Amino acid sequence: MPKKLIIIGGGSAGCFAAITAAESGAGVTLIEKNPVALKKILATGNGRCNYCHDKVTFTDLYRPEGDGFLNTVMKNFSPENVLDKFRSLGITPVNKDGYIYPYSEQARAVSDVLKRTLAQCGVSVITDTEVTDIIKKESGFTVVCADKEFDADAVILTTGGKAAPNTGSDGRGFDICKTLGHKVITPVPALTYLVIKDHPYKKAAGTRLSAKVSIEVSGRILSSDTGQIQITKNGISGIPSFNICRFASRGLLEKEPVRLHIRLVPDMDEDVLKEEISERLCRENTTPYEALTGLFPDTFADSLLRNAGTDPDRIPDNGRKAAEKLFAYLKDITLCVSGTGDFADAQVTCGGVSLDEVDPSSMESKLVPGLYLAGEILDMDGKCGGYNLYFAWASGYIAGKNGGA
Ligand SMILES: Cc1cc2nc3c(=O)[nH]c(=O)nc-3n(C[C@H](O)[C@H](O)[C@H](O)COP(=O)(O)OP(=O)(O)OC[C@H]3O[C@@H](n4cnc5c(N)ncnc54)[C@H](O)[C@@H]3O)c2cc1C
Repeated sequence: MPKKLIIIGGGSAGCFAAITAAESGAGVTLIEKNPVALKKILATGNGRCNYCHDKVTFTDLYRPEGDGFLNTVMKNFSPENVLDKFRSLGITPVNKDGYIYPYSEQARAVSDVLKRTLAQCGVSVITDTEVTDIIKKESGFTVVCADKEFDADAVILTTGGKAAPNTGSDGRGFDICKTLGHKVITPVPALTYLVIKDHPYKKAAGTRLSAKVSIEVSGRILSSDTGQIQITKNGISGIPSFNICRFASRGLLEKEPVRLHIRLVPDMDEDVLKEEISERLCRENTTPYEALTGLFPDTFADSLLRNAGTDPDRIPDNGRKAAEKLFAYLKDITLCVSGTGDFADAQVTCGGVSLDEVDPSSMESKLVPGLYLAGEILDMDGKCGGYNLYFAWASGYIAGKNGGA
């Protein structure tokens, strides 16, 4: 008799685990609460699905250098293994600055090949069914749903985190894990925008700028990123702010003071920028606003000058002094962070089932033998760039290989 394996949650980790286990000979049932599996995948990468990154480092998944858990996962299923597996399913990768997409640049392609493969390898997919509990028996498990129960020799839990709950991941899996005795690190939104208190750049909403952003929590800079930010009505958005957001979310949860530092014109050395500002503000018959034309978008220059305490329309008596004042302000614009986007706006969850309680070489729970966990339900989150999906595929593969054996 093949091993009876139930996988709960038909997202990326769950589908990859199901295919892997079925290919190893297990009898696999995948239970998904939505009417279809893989709903979230269609929204990834702006509909293009950035399904991996060509290189994954410890910092991309916010783990310390050499971290044992991630190291084991990467050794067991590397980014190259992910690409190879998808090639075998028909997905030819295209590499855009390290970000990997399907060549057709359609997320639907990824969901289509996975669904086709699930059917081909005989996985029984049960949709419209929400699991409410997992009961550990002397031998095996009972998986409880609203109006039915299933028996299983082993269970893989891949219900995701709390981000984008409209795709099905509403945090229910965390409650199930707590009932089974697991520790869940409080989930907070990650990869979303920052809300700024008394936002001084509200009027510049819609402006995009190159910047280095750094997040300070209780006086310590915890993370920085450089790229294009976007000013919004209530804060700062764009990939660099997404990438540092998890630290703000955690700090705010702990009621710590959180500040955002913005360094404009990040690709110019301080001395060069200082000279550039000075040259511009010392031009004859030129207002400070006119002086900044070509360096900053017009939608931003006015707000920048006013916030720096400089009248945009008055030619300064002493250009050099005015330049020094402006430079001192713009090399480190410090704003108070009062919030972040919520789970509905977040792409990923920071927090989840403690990694201390899971064996990374099998993804088996150290507390409940026969229970495996993979994907975003675990306390692992990454930056924008394909790292989160990499982790979902890799951990799903390891769980499927071991849970199905
Ligand atoms: C808008 C958006 C864009 C993104 N873009 C990218 C990107 O381009 N690249 C990248 O690497 N990452 C991206 N991510 C993150 C990435 O999609 C997730 O990290 C990844 O999908 C997590 O996979 P998962 O299988 O663990 O969870 P999910 O994909 O969330 O799947 C969990 C599944 O479990 C089901 N489920 C939940 N509870 C139950 C229950 N009780 N019973 C039965 N079923 C249940 C859910 O319905 C869902 O189908 C993006 C996320 C979002 C929201």
